[in-house]
Amino acid sequence: MERTLSIIKPDAVERNFVGKIIGKFEENGLRPVAIRMVHLSQSDAEGFYAVHKERPFFGSLVSFMTRSPVVVMVLEGEDAVKRNREVMGATNPEEAADGTIRKEFAKNIEENSVHGSDSLENAAIEIAYFFSATEVYNR
Ligand code: ADP
Ligand code: MG
Repeated sequence: MERTLSIIKPDAVERNFVGKIIGKFEENGLRPVAIRMVHLSQSDAEGFYAVHKERPFFGSLVSFMTRSPVVVMVLEGEDAVKRNREVMGATNPEEAADGTIRKEFAKNIEENSVHGSDSLENAAIEIAYFFSATEVYNR
C-alpha cells in the first residue's frame, strides 16, 4: 500500500466537479484517507511549488492556485503514486488519454484540475506539507 497527495485545483472546485473527481479515484482503487478544503495563501502555494520557481509559468501558477479554494487529499491504494498519475492523465489535457480526469475536466495546461505527487519520496513530503499524522485515517 502507498499513499500519495492529491489536490483538486481551483478550476475544478469552481465548476463543482469535486464529487465527480473523487468518484474517479474511488473507481480506480484509490481511497481518500484525509480530506480538507483550504484556500491557499500566496506563501502556501509558493512553498508547495518551490521546485518550479524558476519556470516562466510560476507566477501565473501561484496566482491560479490561490484564486479560490482547493481540496487537498491523501489517497491510499496499491501503487497509489503511479495509479493516481494514470487516472489524472497528462499535464496538458490535449495530450491526456480518454477517460482520465484531465481529459474530462481540465481547461488547459495550467488549469488542469488536479495535482498528484510524482514519486513516493515527494508524496511523503507533500502529505506532510498539508496533514499531520493524526489527520490521516489509519485503517
Ligand atoms: P504535473 O502537475 O503534471 O506534475 P508539472 O509538475 O510539470 O505537471 O507542473 C506543475 C503544474 O504547473 C501543472 O500541473 C500546471 O498546473 C502548471 N504548468 C505546467 N506546465 C505549464 C505551462 N507550460 N504553462 C502553464 N502552466 C503550466
Ligand atoms: Mg508535478
